[in-house]
Amino acid sequence: MSRIARVREEMRKHGLDALIVSSISNIRYLTGFTGSNGLLIIASRSALFFSDIRFLEQAKLEVRNCRVHITKFGLYEEASRRKALHGASRVGFESQQITYAQYRVLRRLFPSTSFASTKEIVEDVMLVKDEAEIALMRKAAEISDQVFGEVVKIIRPGISELEIAGTISYLHRKLGAERDAFEIIVASGERSAFPHARATQKKIKSGELVTLDFGCVVGGYNSDITRTVAVGKASLRAKRMYDVVHDAQQTAIESARGGMWAKDLDAVARQRIEKRGMGKFFNHSLGHGLGLHIHERPRVSELSKERLRAGSVITIEPGVYVPGFGGVRIEDDVLLTENGCVVLNTAPKEFLIL
Ligand code: ZN
Ligand code: ZN
Repeated sequence: MSRIARVREEMRKHGLDALIVSSISNIRYLTGFTGSNGLLIIASRSALFFSDIRFLEQAKLEVRNCRVHITKFGLYEEASRRKALHGASRVGFESQQITYAQYRVLRRLFPSTSFASTKEIVEDVMLVKDEAEIALMRKAAEISDQVFGEVVKIIRPGISELEIAGTISYLHRKLGAERDAFEIIVASGERSAFPHARATQKKIKSGELVTLDFGCVVGGYNSDITRTVAVGKASLRAKRMYDVVHDAQQTAIESARGGMWAKDLDAVARQRIEKRGMGKFFNHSLGHGLGLHIHERPRVSELSKERLRAGSVITIEPGVYVPGFGGVRIEDDVLLTENGCVVLNTAPKEFLIL
């Protein structure tokens, strides 16, 4: 079933005759349009795409499965001129994507339409990846794995975190990615105890842990991988921390499957770490959904209230962070199936001492 057909199915469940999609990444997901300004109106029998004159050629090339209207006026104005909501009595809009000003424009242009605030209708459909999406995510993961294999060759005492980050970024593009998925994390020594440290001028010293967290984008889809390595030598404490995180990550991978509660998967890893006395050093959630966004549903945390779905791609990334000493995190992207999961990353996970 096409993505738009799957959205229509959701619309029916919510009693909607039409849905106004204003999130640009949701529009990309449903139409293929990669430009920065667009509006999509899905009705039971039609799908209308609107954009401005700057995107005339791009829309012709990219947009699939809808009628394209290019305008020099506002997109909502054009939708009104085209009577895009004609005959629809209950119309959903994306409450988390639309600004209050846009909402007021809608009310002014369509005074007799009944609008319903909706939440994550397209995101619900997006939870289950189709084959085309999975192929892109596999490619993105493969590139990041290759980058890891290359970048470990240059990590040695004296090199700066920024130099490592710059090399990762270059290699991503060289190996075929569009860009980095997010600002690359390279955190060494005591700084590796900050789960989201950015790369700095700091130079790597022998005996330090270095955490690398990076990802790339292929066809709009993200990869997200973390590996922690030691440089020169590793203390017993560092080895023990690594072992605890590695074991927790492996156990979570063995337990992950579609249908289980997301919070139960988080608990699997958390309990392993707690048993080894490091529970208080694992201070973030186990993972997150991955796709067109670097962080999307499902959340894989203690607070999550949803079940995991077969077909979702999530990260599994436990970590322990000891203030004043350093941290270890290991992260892979996994595709959930009915009976388990497929790990998309192949970069080695034994403790590397470079
Ligand atoms: Zn990451
Ligand atoms: Zn992540």
